Amino acid sequence: MKVRSIMSDHLMQTYARQPIAFTHGEGAWLVAEDGQRYLDALAGIAVNGLGHAHPQLTRALCEQAGRLIHTSNLYEIREQSELADRLCALAGMDRAFFCNSGAEANEAAIKLARLYGHNKGIDSPHIIVMEKSFHGRTLATLTATGNRKVQAGFEPLVQGFLRVPFDDVEAVEQVAAHNKSVVAILVEPIQGEGGVHIPKPSYLRELRRICDQHGWLLMLDEVQTGIGRTGQWFAFQYSDIRPDVLSLAKGLGSGVPIGASLARGVAAEVFTAGKHGTTFGGNPLACRAALTTLAVITDGQLLARATALGERIKGGMQVALQGVAGIRNIRGQGLMIGIELEHPCAELVAIARDQEQLIINVTADSVIRLLPPLILSDAEADLLVERLARLVRAFLA
Ligand SMILES: *Cc1c(COP(=O)(O)O)cnc(C)c1O
Repeated sequence: MKVRSIMSDHLMQTYARQPIAFTHGEGAWLVAEDGQRYLDALAGIAVNGLGHAHPQLTRALCEQAGRLIHTSNLYEIREQSELADRLCALAGMDRAFFCNSGAEANEAAIKLARLYGHNKGIDSPHIIVMEKSFHGRTLATLTATGNRKVQAGFEPLVQGFLRVPFDDVEAVEQVAAHNKSVVAILVEPIQGEGGVHIPKPSYLRELRRICDQHGWLLMLDEVQTGIGRTGQWFAFQYSDIRPDVLSLAKGLGSGVPIGASLARGVAAEVFTAGKHGTTFGGNPLACRAALTTLAVITDGQLLARATALGERIKGGMQVALQGVAGIRNIRGQGLMIGIELEHPCAELVAIARDQEQLIINVTADSVIRLLPPLILSDAEADLLVERLARLVRAFLA
């Protein structure tokens, strides 16, 4: 059914939007303006981990909004302190800085690394970043991003980054041997926008070893992988290491904008009064959203659910697409799943939506990306597999 667009000519044309708008949602379902229901296998790009209109979150936000939304970082904020304590306990980190997005969390990390370098007497500190990475759209984070499409037209870019291939320890060793100005590595434990790339199990441990050896900070961008998405609170917890700096956002506030930069050890002492800040960062409403998100994940044992659901969906897709030509690979960790086809398949997004009432994403041209909510039921997971498999089979036939 064709729905009349509600797009305004007064919006900047920054997004190639799909011609659909949703009025409300419930759990893993989104309802469009014409009343049609869609199974949401994207969760606002790894944001709505609790699904839509989660009653506990709704109640907490209403209560908080009716009491106090914002004061300012000029004052103590009880919810912010509680959230810092909780996140640091979960991640094994020491201090938190709160901001409003993933890009801002990475900006904080980049500034922190530079200050760390200057404090050590390194005048032109450099950060190692990866090919095919994604870190955001601000000038520093788009420079850190390993995708020319994100950078083109915005030159001059920010200085101070060195790029190496992802999942290539040798390449990092090479830089270490020849460059004395490196102060940090910034890397995603699993590359999301780049195509759901999962590195070798030893990768983070090797990077940790190199960072320790050279006095560099290991800075993990878990904006997409964090907050239970992969079946652990943080993806680094699969590697028995801890980072020095950890960027969070997306799933943290279940849709209420909040980002966080956590730091540990010497890194936690780098920012002193006046070195960084933001007006909205860590306000009572955003922190209440995050605290409630963490509580619901804990109480509902949603980490174990993410693992079980991930296996169910991955396994289901493997069985359903057995012997189908044109599938390169089905991979994932928890509820971060990529199905790579041998050819570009961006049109699948519209076909899935219109023919199967299924919300998915395609990234890196040929990777179907699934990021469903952690509250998905087994029946919904099976329905997702059924709808997606039918679609992919027809597409590749
Ligand atoms: C989405 C994303 C970002 C950017 O987050 P914004 O909130 O859009 O600024 C940064 N890093 C990773 C890994 C992401 O997936």
